[in-house]
Amino acid sequence: MLTPFSQDKAATALCRRIEEFFDGGRCFLLAKGRVALYVGLMAQGLPPGGKVLIPGYTCVVVPDAVQHAGLKPLYIDIDPHTYNLDPKLLDRVPAGDLAAVVVQHTYGIPAAMQPIAAWASSHSLPIIEDCCHTFGARAEGRLCGTFGAFAFMSGQWNKFFSTGLGGMLLVHEPALADRVDEIIRAEATSPGRWQNLRLEAQILAYRLLARPGLVPSITKWYRRLNRLGLTVGSSAEWVPGEMPPDYVATLAPCQVRQGLLGLDNIEENIRCRMEWTAWYHRELPLLGFAVSPAIDPGGMPLLRYPLRVANKSETLSLAAKEGVEIGSWFESPLHPAETPRDKFGYRHGMCPLAEGAAATVINLPTHAKVGLREAERTLAFLRRCARPPE
Ligand SMILES: *Cc1c(COP(=O)(O)O)cnc(C)c1O
Repeated sequence: MLTPFSQDKAATALCRRIEEFFDGGRCFLLAKGRVALYVGLMAQGLPPGGKVLIPGYTCVVVPDAVQHAGLKPLYIDIDPHTYNLDPKLLDRVPAGDLAAVVVQHTYGIPAAMQPIAAWASSHSLPIIEDCCHTFGARAEGRLCGTFGAFAFMSGQWNKFFSTGLGGMLLVHEPALADRVDEIIRAEATSPGRWQNLRLEAQILAYRLLARPGLVPSITKWYRRLNRLGLTVGSSAEWVPGEMPPDYVATLAPCQVRQGLLGLDNIEENIRCRMEWTAWYHRELPLLGFAVSPAIDPGGMPLLRYPLRVANKSETLSLAAKEGVEIGSWFESPLHPAETPRDKFGYRHGMCPLAEGAAATVINLPTHAKVGLREAERTLAFLRRCARPPE
């Protein structure tokens, strides 16, 4: 196979297994999900300055990658139930200025692919799927990640399965895959031994320490160590708008190993996430919380279960104090809260429903380390500390 990993059997094996899972496409391994997006965009050779439509409810690293590729993000608001781009708004988008569309399956809720694909095809726009929250979910019976020109995934700690930071690119057009391959061969660096060692230490620490009750304090320490430059961070060395050195890099061997372990376990992972999704969906209404009608409790493996509360910041700070694993993404239309949004072409009010979601949505874990005791403790916590919106 013509990947830079041709000598590396484990990396090739990981790529093949991902291709098998999705029943097609060509997989490439990169240092992060954002890098996979960047490489995919570069390979598409879109006109410089072209606009890329992205939901205004995402991680800032997405528009950042778009800008690194010489393109401009254009934001579209979300459907308040799916948290995905609202297809009803597409007809108002100036499609003539667009070069591509990023469709994100937020929290693992599949986007409405049928109207989106019809609209994109009527304007000859390539679809890119942000699958950083999903692995194995289906939209209209078809696997998310198989609809577009390419899909990208993240192997960050808190994503579907972790490579201890990392990213995957799944390309569905053979010519595009060839160009991706060329770019990776020409530009990608491989993590050196020191980097591999640091990542390996992090993966080990994570395995030993990551339990739901410890997550808030671990996250705090991880960020501190990041700032000191002792760990390989997700975003610590990140300066808004600037491409970090060695941005285009491949996975270290220890990350590939983690990825293979993640895939060994993928069916169990998916089943577990489906079960917790169904569980929250049944239990939360009993506490007076409204659940999203877009969530299908009969088989949707959510990465995190989204829930709207009236007192988000209070709930999060109490949860951190009590060691209850509750997540805050997205804190802003361009997560995290501190993002200088103007540097990414976002102005306040552009996506009001996304801003509303950022102000009210917390998210609950669905991963395999959640046990019934923790889940019940989380519910008891929510009953005590969180208030349903009016
Ligand atoms: C995490 C995330 C990314 C980026 O993943 P990295 O591996 O950190 O680059 C992109 N999009 C969404 C929706 C994410 O949640």
